[in-house]
Amino acid sequence: MNQVVTHNSRLWRRNHDGTGLVFTHRQGKAKFLHLNAPGIEIFTDCQGDLSKNNIVKKWSGALQIDERFVREFLRQLQEQQAVTIGELCLDHLPPNWENENQQTTDILLIVPPNPFASREEIPLPLGVLMLASALKQVGFSVALFDMFLHNLDPIEIVKAVKKYKPSIIGISVITASAPSAYQVIKCLKTIDFAGLLIVGGIHATHCPTEVLQQGANVVVRGEGTYALCQLARLYFDNRAWDTSFLQSIPNIHYWHGDKIQKSLKAVNTSISSADDLPQPDRNIIDINNYPQKGAIISTFGCNRRCRFCTARNHPLSSYLARKPDRIIAELHEMERLGICVGNFVDDSFLLDHQRVETLCRMILQTNLNMAFACQAKVDDACKNPSTLKKMVEAGFSAIEFGVESGNQAVLRWTRKGITLEQAARAVDAAHNAGFQRISCGMIIGYPIDTRETIEDTIQFAIHLLSRGAHNIPLAICTPFPGSDIANNADTYGIKIVCRDWSRYNFREAVMDTPMLTHREIEQLYLDGLYRIHCASVRKGG
Ligand code: SF4
Repeated sequence: MNQVVTHNSRLWRRNHDGTGLVFTHRQGKAKFLHLNAPGIEIFTDCQGDLSKNNIVKKWSGALQIDERFVREFLRQLQEQQAVTIGELCLDHLPPNWENENQQTTDILLIVPPNPFASREEIPLPLGVLMLASALKQVGFSVALFDMFLHNLDPIEIVKAVKKYKPSIIGISVITASAPSAYQVIKCLKTIDFAGLLIVGGIHATHCPTEVLQQGANVVVRGEGTYALCQLARLYFDNRAWDTSFLQSIPNIHYWHGDKIQKSLKAVNTSISSADDLPQPDRNIIDINNYPQKGAIISTFGCNRRCRFCTARNHPLSSYLARKPDRIIAELHEMERLGICVGNFVDDSFLLDHQRVETLCRMILQTNLNMAFACQAKVDDACKNPSTLKKMVEAGFSAIEFGVESGNQAVLRWTRKGITLEQAARAVDAAHNAGFQRISCGMIIGYPIDTRETIEDTIQFAIHLLSRGAHNIPLAICTPFPGSDIANNADTYGIKIVCRDWSRYNFREAVMDTPMLTHREIEQLYLDGLYRIHCASVRKGG
């Protein structure tokens, strides 16, 4: 039976027999899907957005019935296998939710849904697991609710808060998840949550005032372990709003009366080494629920200043590397948890070849039975191809490069500091070293992109496929708050046409550039996706 296995799709066709064909794309991966008749009905009713919340909202509104009946109907449809709705998961709540013996917790950490990742790509919330670890080390009890993983509604979070009775709630927000986070905050207001509401993450880092105005008590900017522990101590010591103490906590913004204050220290000097940061506490979650459970970080920060990226303005942006023996110990723990692929999500994994070679040697010496993946910059990768060979010997099988553009002038403009020639050489080097999966991320729709430069990017993407790349995730340039592009919109002549953060998802264009409207950029994006997809199929990928 054909089943519904997508959401947020745009292009579709209804067949005479009621079935349909949908073209869907997500983070550069294109798929053509056949939907059965019930599937296509739901798809059209819900305008391509098959998230559970959207279906329930649309149907209960149209039929003027209680949302509970719609939920029940959907549940039965799924039970009868009439449809499988891509990201609709019936496990609304984490497995231990109904456990009456569940103890209350000091601090509840919440990860709101990330609308641009598919279920297969749900990321392990590594940063939040580090926060949990730091809080537990100083004696607090912590629970974590990943709303995306468990498909939790804000209303279900409210139930969880009533049950766990946390004194502090911490929410981690990226730009695309900000609207969901604000819904959670709104729901918490309806139950008069009297504790401390702290919000952190990349969006809060760059939009602290917006987040505070949405109802947070405190915003922690940048790396948050130290600040969060200090805030928790302050709160549990009943020291009320001791402003002199708050002022000493680095990088926080908070309400003081009806005014927003920020702490005096903008830089967190408590972290001088990467090993000052705690190892993520993977035991706080059921790791096996995560499709991408192998994420690990071995270095922090990035030495580049790309115009489109927010890492450049991140308060902990200097490069810090963890000691190899600490990384090996963490990998062993991951292996014990049944994780067989370690995915290094560092921004600068290959910056220091000696460090990587030491790590590879230690992996071989300690008989770790895992495969590995990493991200790398193309110039780092082609500096010393023998390092790539050592990585493959140690078990690395996948590598992801950020190539960013196929036009040299545009690439120079991004300030990434790489060339097309280096990109081609990096793919060759990875291919020759024996990597089984080579991805090259590309972006179109930069402020200086034209139809011609975008054509160069698509052509170059297809060229890289022919040289040995297996996958080309294609994205639309997005002016994320904190990026140089967003900060200097007037200088670049761009017009931001949308402030709905959930659409800041790399596949919807939210700005007109001097050369192209956002609609034109989206058309070029779909066209590019289709051509890359066809080239990949022709190649047998
Ligand atoms: S895009 Fe990559 S290289 Fe550029 S600043 Fe961001 S993390 Fe660094």
